[in-house]
Amino acid sequence: MRDIIIVGNWKMNKNNAETKAFFEAVDPVAKTNKGLYGVGVPFTDLKTALDEAKNLIVAAENVHFEDSGAFTGEVSVPMLEELGVKYCIIGHSERRQMFGDTDETVNKKAKKLLAAGITPILCIGETEAEYDAGKTKDVITSQLNGSLKDIPAEEYKNIVIAYEPIWAIGTGKSASVEIAENCCKLVRDVVKDMVGEEAADAVRIQYGGSVKPGNIVEYMAQEDIDGALIGGASLKPDSFIEIIEKTK
Ligand code: PGA
Repeated sequence: MRDIIIVGNWKMNKNNAETKAFFEAVDPVAKTNKGLYGVGVPFTDLKTALDEAKNLIVAAENVHFEDSGAFTGEVSVPMLEELGVKYCIIGHSERRQMFGDTDETVNKKAKKLLAAGITPILCIGETEAEYDAGKTKDVITSQLNGSLKDIPAEEYKNIVIAYEPIWAIGTGKSASVEIAENCCKLVRDVVKDMVGEEAADAVRIQYGGSVKPGNIVEYMAQEDIDGALIGGASLKPDSFIEIIEKTK
């Protein structure tokens, strides 16, 4: 069976002092002998988070696919490696919508991360208009085919896919448990078509979009939901602690 993986996504929030305070409060609670809990933090908080983390895993929120060069403002995979980063969120819908990330660039990032032994947390998901038009399956299929192109089946145990319907992110309007499970199952079926059953069984799939202490348990009870990617509710130590305690 797949181990659970629940990861916060701080987005552009928290300075170093706040990061330290969060880890002091939350890290001891994340001690468990099964499953993983962690947070994605801004680049400027990575070192503090990694220094503080004994139990929580620490993720970067983005990376560039080139190793070095004239890419002002970007951070490379070797730079993350040097810090000891082991997880990296890629292709978040905010990056796709505001910063030009595409399936093609996300695919390059995924390959670079895997080669460095860093687990990509690949975000996919449809817009509200696509959902209303019944296009969820088409969107998910094309995002997975593009973002995971040419990645061999045996790598899927080192990949996390976060299904995040855009209409549920930061809106308080979470997908129903039924929709979340159906879509996460759809993700697994698409992976199966792409690279086979073993890889589909091994890949960990998260649901993301307005997950909070009050709904985490029902999501985690679903067969194809192995974890969650949590924005707003990961910022306050108390609410993230509640999420950990309800699921560990
Ligand atoms: P939310 O964000 O939990 O605040 O909806 C989720 C995400 O963007 O990963």
